Amino acid sequence: MLLVNLTALTTLNSFGKSLHLFLYQCFAVVCLTALIALIPWQRARKVVQDVLIGLSVVLLFTDIYFACYYQGLPDQAIMEVLIATTAEEAWGYVRANLLNIWLIGGLVVGLGLVYLLFHFVVKLRYVKGVVRTLSYVLLVASLFTIGNMVKDVFKHKDKTVKSLTHNCCSVLRTGTQFYEGWTNMRNFERVLHRGNLHPRLLKNSSSIPYVVFILGESTSRHHLGIYGYPLNTTPYMAARERSGNLVKFTDVISPHGQTMPALGKLFTFYRHGAKGAWYDYTDLFSILNEAGYHTVWLSNQEFSGIYGNNGRVYAERCSEYAFTKLRGSDSYTIKDPYDEEILPLLDKSLKGAKAKNFIVLHLMGTHQNYKFRFPETFRSFSATEEKGENDKIKQTRADYDTAVRYNDSIMNDIIKRFEDKNAVVIYVSDHAEDVMEINKKIAGHSEIGLNRRMVEIPMMVFTSKRFQTAYPMLTARIRNAANRPFETDDMIHALLDLMDIHTADYKPQLSVFNQHFDAKRTRYYGTKKY
Ligand SMILES: [Zn+2]
Repeated sequence: MLLVNLTALTTLNSFGKSLHLFLYQCFAVVCLTALIALIPWQRARKVVQDVLIGLSVVLLFTDIYFACYYQGLPDQAIMEVLIATTAEEAWGYVRANLLNIWLIGGLVVGLGLVYLLFHFVVKLRYVKGVVRTLSYVLLVASLFTIGNMVKDVFKHKDKTVKSLTHNCCSVLRTGTQFYEGWTNMRNFERVLHRGNLHPRLLKNSSSIPYVVFILGESTSRHHLGIYGYPLNTTPYMAARERSGNLVKFTDVISPHGQTMPALGKLFTFYRHGAKGAWYDYTDLFSILNEAGYHTVWLSNQEFSGIYGNNGRVYAERCSEYAFTKLRGSDSYTIKDPYDEEILPLLDKSLKGAKAKNFIVLHLMGTHQNYKFRFPETFRSFSATEEKGENDKIKQTRADYDTAVRYNDSIMNDIIKRFEDKNAVVIYVSDHAEDVMEINKKIAGHSEIGLNRRMVEIPMMVFTSKRFQTAYPMLTARIRNAANRPFETDDMIHALLDLMDIHTADYKPQLSVFNQHFDAKRTRYYGTKKY
């Protein structure tokens, strides 16, 4: 059991973490074996044992397949897709991907190896000292795991138990993921059908052919060269600003320091102080669908799970959506895709563009772990160029600034695709990041310990030459708005104003692009006044 469950170790990148998980795995297997030993009937015990081992072997091969082809182990997102898959679709997948002579050959060889391995392990019990040594290892592992579980109780955490059920034993992991995927889908379906999906439009004079919304991730305005940061982290956007096609907004904050709550407010009428839940409010995509827009959601973020669901609700409401990779919040990926992998999705989508298009590109941006956000060949800054109290802070900032620099290049690649079109491109980060500026102990963002650095975000609006010629007044309104104090929980008002669409909930004084914009609005981040 232990040997066929070792694949999870390949998802970790440090020896310490792998050892930790190995000890947990030992404990998980001890518990499982002990439970089976409690079955009083010998035949039943044997059947359960064989089924468990058989399933583990099947999952071993599935894990290896996923690790090779999808750079990660199957997770909740995969389970959800599986649950929603029809037999015909499943057969289509098998025909396209699995009926491959190399794969089948590999499977046969693999099964042979596993058979030999079992044979060898069974014989091991007669070798002197082996059973005793193994027993010691299992005992130490069990004590270590139980110790950590006790520690968790005092810290009010469930880290160890979660690791045991989600990460140690493939049978247990798959079972939990299947159950969680099932419940998540049921909850998700409920949220998906709430709100006003066919809002009545009071006015629809929309005509802009391409409205593009780049939704960034964890990017702090204070690390962007274009906003005065000493390192040149945004050469592309700075050049576009100099050429007069890009306006940067200097005083924008997000309502929260975390993706989920920030996203709930970004594209709905739900704002600070509103009652109920975000999904009870009318969302932008339902309005735009009614207004005749072809709505598109392209994402390099999670497909499902606690951090993925809000984005997915919006995605499902769009005319089309695509994700670079189907992964969930608890996913064990060896390598996340870089944001550049969203570009082929965009090119494909643009081939089917309609008369009026609203396209969201949800990036991974500069989310932790910063050094995994860009290919190492892209590295632009080193710790020696950074300011900071110690080497750790300097290195963290060098990674973060390189991620910002990479984000700048991705934004540029996206804008390039709309330069010759009649298009407006809006960029905003979901929230910002404290790169150990206020909290010196740890970099990141969170609703707990929320500070101003976690909400002070960049916002930029690019307009193409064709757009500027077609909408001179609107272009002027965008330029005039650059220094207004804005919070992104009112983004829906700004976008509807920009696109000239009105509904009963739309308020011009909440749109940053409007001449009646209320600059005196009290802004809140979390529950604090800004
Ligand atoms: Zn976020």
